[in-house]
Amino acid sequence: MNTAAAVADFRSYPLISALTTVQSLADRVLVKWADGRVSPFHHQWLRDNCPCPVCVYTVTREQVLEIVDVAEDLSPAVTQVDALGCLSIAWLDGHTSRFDPGWLRAHAYDDESRIERRAGKPKSQRWNSQLTLPVFEYQAVMDDPNVLLQWLLALRDIGLTQVRGIPTEPGSLTSIAKRISFIRESNFGVLFNVQSKADADSNAYTAFNLPLHSDLPTRELQPGLQFLHCLVNDADGGESIFVDGFAIADALRQEDPEAFRALCEIPVEFRNKDRHSDYRCLAPIIALDALGQVSEIRMANFLRGPFDASVEQMPKLYRAYRRFIAMTRETCFRHMTRLNPGEMWCFDNRRTLHARNAFDPASGARHFQGCYIDRDELLSRILVLQR
Ligand SMILES: [Zn+2]
Repeated sequence: MNTAAAVADFRSYPLISALTTVQSLADRVLVKWADGRVSPFHHQWLRDNCPCPVCVYTVTREQVLEIVDVAEDLSPAVTQVDALGCLSIAWLDGHTSRFDPGWLRAHAYDDESRIERRAGKPKSQRWNSQLTLPVFEYQAVMDDPNVLLQWLLALRDIGLTQVRGIPTEPGSLTSIAKRISFIRESNFGVLFNVQSKADADSNAYTAFNLPLHSDLPTRELQPGLQFLHCLVNDADGGESIFVDGFAIADALRQEDPEAFRALCEIPVEFRNKDRHSDYRCLAPIIALDALGQVSEIRMANFLRGPFDASVEQMPKLYRAYRRFIAMTRETCFRHMTRLNPGEMWCFDNRRTLHARNAFDPASGARHFQGCYIDRDELLSRILVLQR
C-alpha cells in the first residue's frame, strides 16, 4: 500500500507492519504493531501532526496548525484502529485525526525505531591514499539520470569524484553544474578562472604551491561542492592533491582527544579582502553534527588571521593546529593526480581539502575554471532523483 496520498507528501511510506491495538495512557497512547513493536505517541505529538486538511494546507503540504492553538492537556475521547487500519482519534475538543500506519511507523520515536532510522541514514565512507577514485563520463551524466544519481551519491558519501570527457571550451562547466542545481555565485564570479595573474586577489591565482585547504572558509557557510574543470594544462607541475578532512579529524580524535576538542571548540578567524570586499568568518576548524560526528572542516592557512585565544588555550591551539596540518602532509592520507584537459574534479569542499603543487608558468599555459554549489542542493537533488 502506497500511502503518499493519505498524508499529502511527495514521499511514500510503505506499510511495514499493521497496527494491531492502541491503549490510552494519561499523556500518550501506546500503539502495538503486528511485528511486536510497541510505540508510544504523546497526545501533543499526535495532535501536532494531524494530517487533516484543516491542520495542513493541501496545496503546499505545509502545516497551518500551531500546537499552542490547542490545549496543552488535550486528550482523546476515543482512540481506535479503524476499518482501514489507520489510527483514529476523536479529541475531547471535537477535532478528529487519522494517521496512516505507514506514515506513523516511519515517524515512530520509540528507541528501537529511532535506532533503526539512524542506522538507515547514508554513511560517509572515509578514504586515504588508497582511494579508488570514482570516475564518471560527462555524456552519461548529462543523458542518464541513473548515472547522474550514482555520481551524486559518490559526492555525498565519498566527497571526491572526477568527471571525464567534458568539452574544453570555456564555460562548459555550467551545463554539468546545472545538472545538479543552482550555481552559487561569489565575489570571484559565477565561474572563476584559476590562472596565474599579476594582480592576483588570492594565492589561488598565482603559480605558488597551495597547501591543503577548503575554499571560502571566510564565509559563514562554506560552499558545499566545488568544481574544477581543466581546459589547458601544459605547464610543468601543478598536480592536484586531496585529503579526506573527515578521516584526518577522526584520526586526530583517536590519537589526541584534547587536540581534537581544541579544534572543535576554539574559533579561528579566516579573512579575504580586496579593494571591493572584506570577508571574515570566526569559527572552529572542525564542526560536529547533532550526533557528534565530524560534519565540516574549515581550513586555509593562507586566509587565517592571528589566533585570538586565551593565554591558557593558546599553546593547546598551536599544538592541535600543528598536528592537523602535519597530518594533511602525511602521504598515507594524500591522493595526488594531475588533471588533464576535459577532466573535472568535483568534491565536497566542506570535507575534502584540496591543494596544488607549484607550477612553472614559463613552461606552458594552465587554465582551470571552477564554480560552487551548496551541499543542500546536492542532497535535495538526490532525494528527488530517488523518488
Ligand atoms: Zn487536524
